[in-house]
Amino acid sequence: MSPLRSASLVLVIAVALPLAPIAGAAEPLCPAVPPRQPAAYVAHVNEVNRGLSIPADYAARHHLRLQPEAQHLVQAPRDVYGRKVEMVAPAAAALKRMFAAAARDGIKLETVSGFRSFAYQTHLVREKLRRGMSITKALEINAVPGYSEHQTGCAVDLTTPGIPAADVSFGDSKAFRWMQQHAAEYGFHLSFPRGNEYGYEYEPWHWRYIGRSAKAG
Ligand SMILES: [Zn+2]
Repeated sequence: MSPLRSASLVLVIAVALPLAPIAGAAEPLCPAVPPRQPAAYVAHVNEVNRGLSIPADYAARHHLRLQPEAQHLVQAPRDVYGRKVEMVAPAAAALKRMFAAAARDGIKLETVSGFRSFAYQTHLVREKLRRGMSITKALEINAVPGYSEHQTGCAVDLTTPGIPAADVSFGDSKAFRWMQQHAAEYGFHLSFPRGNEYGYEYEPWHWRYIGRSAKAG
């Protein structure tokens, strides 16, 4: 290649670069529908779930979507036991704003659980099997590893004083009524209402943030 041609090629690349899309920059971190996952990740999840004797067609039959695992986490409000809770940045920020708004209305919201890794979710299901629970029952309580919304860092389990953690009675609390009225203003949505299509038990405590990109915060 002549020096002149290679110089003009460099120029073309330099001009073209700023116009090239930056991969993922505008993608919301917490989309309503998770993007298609890489084949290697799909294969890994399938292999782990085979090891837990989860039927190969279980996820498809329950309309479950494979969830990406969050990579960058920040601190969300600590849980009721004072332990650290992690979520992706926009979800944690929205949660703090929502807690503050609830507090102004005299409602105390508290976290129970935020991000849970694929490995930890696998551990939770494995422990239930080890204690003799059937896989069918275990999967009514814990999501199939790879399919938990907690893995995305966008979902959170909440409670309020006087209600046990992850208890259906949260659905009868003042805090839950406040959430029904206001959570959507902060991007939070109830994932598993009564009679949900996924076959999960009613989970009034489990809310998922759907919203903005990391950049928009
Ligand atoms: Zn949950």
